[in-house]
Amino acid sequence: MTDAIAPALRRATERVEADVAIVGGGIVGGSAALFLRRLGLSVVLLERGLCGAAASGVNYGGVRVQGRQPVQLPLALRSRHWWERLRELIGTDGEYVRSGHLKLARSEADLASLRAYRERTHDHGLVLQMIEGEAFRRAFPWLGRQAIGGSWCAEDGHANPRLVSPAFARAARAAGARVVEHCEVTQLAHDGARFELADGHGLEVRSRWLLNCAGAWALAVANRFGETVPMESIHPGMVVTEPVQRFIDVNIGVEGGGIYGRQTARGNCVMGGSRGTRRDALHAQPAAPAMVELCARMAELFPPLAQAQVIRFWSGVEGSLPDHQPVIGPSRTTPQLLHAFGFCGAGFQTGPAVGEALANWVHRGDPGVPLDAFAIDRYTTPAAATAAPILHPH
Ligand SMILES: Cc1cc2nc3c(=O)[nH]c(=O)nc-3n(C[C@H](O)[C@H](O)[C@H](O)COP(=O)(O)OP(=O)(O)OC[C@H]3O[C@@H](n4cnc5c(N)ncnc54)[C@H](O)[C@@H]3O)c2cc1C
Repeated sequence: MTDAIAPALRRATERVEADVAIVGGGIVGGSAALFLRRLGLSVVLLERGLCGAAASGVNYGGVRVQGRQPVQLPLALRSRHWWERLRELIGTDGEYVRSGHLKLARSEADLASLRAYRERTHDHGLVLQMIEGEAFRRAFPWLGRQAIGGSWCAEDGHANPRLVSPAFARAARAAGARVVEHCEVTQLAHDGARFELADGHGLEVRSRWLLNCAGAWALAVANRFGETVPMESIHPGMVVTEPVQRFIDVNIGVEGGGIYGRQTARGNCVMGGSRGTRRDALHAQPAAPAMVELCARMAELFPPLAQAQVIRFWSGVEGSLPDHQPVIGPSRTTPQLLHAFGFCGAGFQTGPAVGEALANWVHRGDPGVPLDAFAIDRYTTPAAATAAPILHPH
């Protein structure tokens, strides 16, 4: 009998004891489970659907550090370390390509803003190079004329989220984690010493630690322990074309937003930059007018795509907070509860390092990277709120 068994088929009550229980099998929960096993702790990972099938599996696949606010750079740079060693970590390279990331300017003001960002982040270890004028046109002749220059980050890249994210949970299972899919945690309690979790279908879990890695649905877990943040769901809209001759050899973003794009080895061009809508509590769908607009922007910025057929639109559900930073760190109400959610459309890149930080926290009480800015009470304690960074949406 496998762990990926439908709840209806589980009859007898099963009790599981573990050092750590994790709610949510996205890239964050999967990575935490893997790193915890590497540190020798027993782990049970509980996922409502299939691991890596929510935001972690449907995202754009951007693996970029460029554009992150300074407060997130230690985490993002640590994650880059793992992206470079992905096959060693999870047994597949997940089509990760270190393609470089080019953030485009469409005006002098954009160029000034990109230069200012380079100045602001230089001392944090982010290496960026401005490319302008003739050198820019020669390097990227396939870009539309509205792009006049850009900021180049050679060490960024992109990957296939459908391959990468489930592979984290798979690697955790291979390392000895108990991974239970089709298991929605509906009951959560803390008896003063241990967490008690149940799915209402016969599975009961007791653990010393609980990791809340439930993505856009994590407030249900946090609320259960008397905590909240002003998180809302966002639904980025995505489009992919038929395979066309390779021409986009870097990961492209645009200062001010509106569109980003990459091309896979097979030739499909994946683009994002619009918003979809909520379909129900678990699903999102693309919004037709926004997708038409995105396709128009795509044809303008990438003229070779003007005649390309779009083969699929989609969207996903992601948690977002007003300061565009996640919640990562300890509960203020319940000992040995750690939260990690609300990645604001950027948690695929940081996911590996977030999982590692959570595991370090459990193991030695220190995440290994600074996480203070992501405290869950930053919206409720005046001191923490003023310390929160001023942020710009990517
Ligand atoms: C369309 C789109 C494009 C994006 N593009 C990028 C990008 O290019 N680069 C980037 O870095 N980031 C991107 N992101 C953001 C990134 O995908 C997310 O930040 C990241 O995947 C979050 O991972 P997670 O594990 O926290 O959440 P999720 O992947 O959402 O996983 C949370 C899991 O928890 C499970 N769960 C919830 N409640 C329960 C419960 N009660 N019991 C059991 N299981 C539960 C859910 O089923 C889900 O599988 C994008 C997101 C979207 C939607």
